[in-house]
Amino acid sequence: MAADSPFSNPSFQVALLGGGQLGKMVLAEARRMDISVRVLDPSPDAPCRLGAERFDIGSFQDYDTVVAFCQGASSVGIEIESVNADALETLEQQGIPCFPPSRVLRVIQDKVRQKEFYAAQGLPTSDFTRYESLSELQTAVAAGHQSLPFVWKLGQGGYDGFGVSIVRSQADLDTLSEGVCIAESLVPIATEIGVVVARNEAGETVCFPPVEMEFHPAANQVEFVVCPASLPVEVLKEAEGLAKRVAESFDTLGLLAVELFYTQSGEWLVNEVAPRPHNSGHLTIEGCSTSQFEQMLRAMCHLPFGDTRLLQPSVMANIVGAEGFSGPVVYEGLPQALQMPGTAFHIYGKSQTRPFRKMGHLTAVGANVDEARARAAAARDALQVKA
Ligand code: ADP
Repeated sequence: MAADSPFSNPSFQVALLGGGQLGKMVLAEARRMDISVRVLDPSPDAPCRLGAERFDIGSFQDYDTVVAFCQGASSVGIEIESVNADALETLEQQGIPCFPPSRVLRVIQDKVRQKEFYAAQGLPTSDFTRYESLSELQTAVAAGHQSLPFVWKLGQGGYDGFGVSIVRSQADLDTLSEGVCIAESLVPIATEIGVVVARNEAGETVCFPPVEMEFHPAANQVEFVVCPASLPVEVLKEAEGLAKRVAESFDTLGLLAVELFYTQSGEWLVNEVAPRPHNSGHLTIEGCSTSQFEQMLRAMCHLPFGDTRLLQPSVMANIVGAEGFSGPVVYEGLPQALQMPGTAFHIYGKSQTRPFRKMGHLTAVGANVDEARARAAAARDALQVKA
């Protein structure tokens, strides 16, 4: 047993910044493993309001609030990127390990710095040019130095897809926001793969099996997250190797979800990473004996990593608010949906729905991916999230 773990030290407590659905799934594993967690979130209504040892209402973006909240904690984790990195640095100086470390979070919080990091480390990523402002980018396009099309990414301040845009025309260019940005070449993507990696203070690096994002043909949104992915085993081994290299290059702690592009010419490129539990790892709850959430806690609690092998083909679908409905949530068809075979529902407990807001997810397992996907589709279609 590790010298300082919840099982050798009764006062061991994890502090978690952010109390959304990702935190809620951390709490479920923490309860099962008898690990004590305190949570900070600005919303009294946050999904983590139940199930935490202590739930504090406050901003994880405010330096003083974060430093005060984490006093006496044994380790600090995050479930959202926009936490105050200066506060994490202060906590590290006080001897409280942070997952991820503040220096890693600072790079990841800025899409431009993140991209420059991959280039500097020799990690494969799409070509890009940095611009200090929107007007500098516009001037480059007008002068013919920046050719169309390209993918525009805002360094800081983008949220929920608002900091990323495919620019094909002058009209597209006029819709962009001000700020330091990059123009990335448009990658001919064959498929998008996610690999959740975990690292601990001993430098051990393990990963979950790669998952494949299947996009809805019309909505251009991820419809299913599928494991195993459809690529040949040797090709997926390359993805695992690259994802681990990314985590080692960052020298990070805790989880790192690595989003990769597999190109039409058979090349792997790093798109972006998230230093926390990720949508692409939700199916590890039902599909693997150790979930991404437990793996994060194990890293934070100095416990050995668990087995990451996939036990059964698994498919995850998000449960989102139906179009045209905003307000107090009503679940229609839940009794029928709950009777679907091989399917587990996760309801996040958000009181208000909005069109496309993530309100829950489901994971279906099956004898093969086709069976699991068919079950996931049937269960998702049976349930309507309305107001
Ligand atoms: P976000 O942080 O909003 O999720 P991403 O960088 O993951 O932003 O980009 C969102 C999606 O846009 C990706 O999943 C991919 O489908 C597409 N995309 C991003 N960058 C490129 C690129 N360079 N070439 C082609 N498609 C891209």
